[in-house]
Amino acid sequence: MVVKWDFQMSMKKELSHLASNLGADLFAIVSSKDLDGAPKGHRPKDILPNAESVIVLGMKLLDAQVDILPSGNARDFFATSPRQDVFAGHTGFVSEQLDEIGYTLARFLEKKGYRAFHQMSSRGGTDNRYLIGLFSVKHAAVQSGLGVFGYHSMVITPQYGPRIRLTAILTDAEIKSDTPLDADFCVSCSGTPCIAMCPSYAIQIPTDGLPYNINKFACCQYMTTRPTCAVCVKVCPVGDEQVK
Ligand code: SF4
Ligand code: SF4
Repeated sequence: MVVKWDFQMSMKKELSHLASNLGADLFAIVSSKDLDGAPKGHRPKDILPNAESVIVLGMKLLDAQVDILPSGNARDFFATSPRQDVFAGHTGFVSEQLDEIGYTLARFLEKKGYRAFHQMSSRGGTDNRYLIGLFSVKHAAVQSGLGVFGYHSMVITPQYGPRIRLTAILTDAEIKSDTPLDADFCVSCSGTPCIAMCPSYAIQIPTDGLPYNINKFACCQYMTTRPTCAVCVKVCPVGDEQVK
């Protein structure tokens, strides 16, 4: 019997093992053509000509660092900025750890003769006029099946909810892609706490089949007055060990 060597699968296994050994908690692949619906200038091939695949990596935030965020009346935050500052420091640290893994995978691909562009976790390349990043790692994560959008516009993973950081590597290597997740965590969420607790009233129930409806300018404006916010991450019951 002739055993056919599946190059795309073999490459995927190598990358997945490398990412896991370096400390990544989440790994998935999406074909770049599945992200061609992004706005012009933000599609994979606009950033890396001949892009074929996008590797999405995630790392989990420590639960205790999320749980230190203010709770109760989320609009009464005047004595809580030290807690938000600690959380902001943690997310920054995890993003940097994840970026080291992303860089290592990108170099791994380069050494094999491919091109690789790393969309960092710690630097989104945001256009502040529209609050849109160069490349949407969140959309790539959803298309890759790592998770689905929640009403708060964060990616909710089955394992860790929105308590994650994400990064992506665009490459011209063809790697076997994964499939989107068929799940909706929000439709059965009791009390939609992300909406109820958002201090800037930025989140609403989405309509017209959209996955979320968020006023990101209101959210951003609120965060200019605080070290960070992330109340919507903390109160989301998915991935919260204390809710189980
Ligand atoms: S708190 Fe509930 S409604 Fe909001 S994103 Fe999480 S699961 Fe969805
Ligand atoms: S991070 Fe933004 S959307 Fe989330 S709760 Fe805070 S202000 Fe609202």
